Amino acid sequence: MDIDELNTGVLLFDSELLKIQELNPAAQKILGWDLSSLNDNINDLGALSQGLAALAKLIRSLKSDELREEIKQSKSKRIEIKINSQHFNLYLQQLEDDYMLELSQIIYQDMKQSTHELKRPIQNIKTLVETLLLGAKDDAVKSLEYLEKLDHEADRLGTMVQDMLSLSHVLSGSVELNKIEIDLGQLVDKLISSAESRATSRQIKLMSDIPKGTKIQADKKYLDHLLANLIDNGIKYNKDSGSVQLHYKEGVLIVEDTGTGIPETDIAKVFDQFYRVQASSAIQGTGLGLAIVKAIVDLHGWTIAIESELKTGSRFSIRLS
Ligand code: ADP
Repeated sequence: MDIDELNTGVLLFDSELLKIQELNPAAQKILGWDLSSLNDNINDLGALSQGLAALAKLIRSLKSDELREEIKQSKSKRIEIKINSQHFNLYLQQLEDDYMLELSQIIYQDMKQSTHELKRPIQNIKTLVETLLLGAKDDAVKSLEYLEKLDHEADRLGTMVQDMLSLSHVLSGSVELNKIEIDLGQLVDKLISSAESRATSRQIKLMSDIPKGTKIQADKKYLDHLLANLIDNGIKYNKDSGSVQLHYKEGVLIVEDTGTGIPETDIAKVFDQFYRVQASSAIQGTGLGLAIVKAIVDLHGWTIAIESELKTGSRFSIRLS
């Protein structure tokens, strides 16, 4: 195993738990300290930041015979700790001659909000099934109508769970970007043609003036996700016969549409998880798309800005530097 390639933070200790022998880049990122500074300060709680002090305290307690016996018995021990206001699962394992400590971040998304959002389609499904059972099932027209509604609610639930998983993944802190040279013009053309059927059904034109051969550095998978989301929103929140246009100029990638626009007071909030503009509540969505877009932008070290005018359109600009 090459611990340098793991996304999880890994620390290897000696058999006495006195010295850290190895520290992978993910652990260094989580703790903010390199190997030699950690070893120099691990017993000096006063010199350590709050997060590291929690780890140092833990390491001290690991030296207790009781705990070591417990680890020996069960081979691994899980402890939850907080480092720099983030929660981590810490697994301690005894290897042949030393100890391995693994740190993986726990994402506590706004659980209350998430479960509340999931409750709605679940409640709708329950009501539809109950209505069917109460008699609608005996009416061929009504039962077809209710089954179609059930199908729609199940799709909504599926999209929501998928978006929640995508968001918690990009926020996990364990994503390692695979930045490569990408032909932006080619990628945008491909995304436009896969969104085409959704746009043409409402006579919305999808256009790009980004020439093939325009090279940028990005992680293809995440850039794909980001652009697909922005193009999709450009279609969803557009008027019939409108347009979505993509441009790239001097390091700035632009997705602009001729849609409903976003009220000024909502612009800062649309990147929040589950936030949806009141006026667009009739249009299907989870309120997570732009939170995912923002997380991908942050992962790359880019910035994103929105300019928007009601009933005229919106422009999303991403500075790729
Ligand atoms: P949703 O799943 O609701 O589309 P998003 O996070 O992608 O979630 O967007 C959040 C909200 O921002 C949307 O509900 C919508 O009100 C508004 N919004 C996003 N993109 C646009 C756009 N291009 N034009 C107008 N409003 C938009």
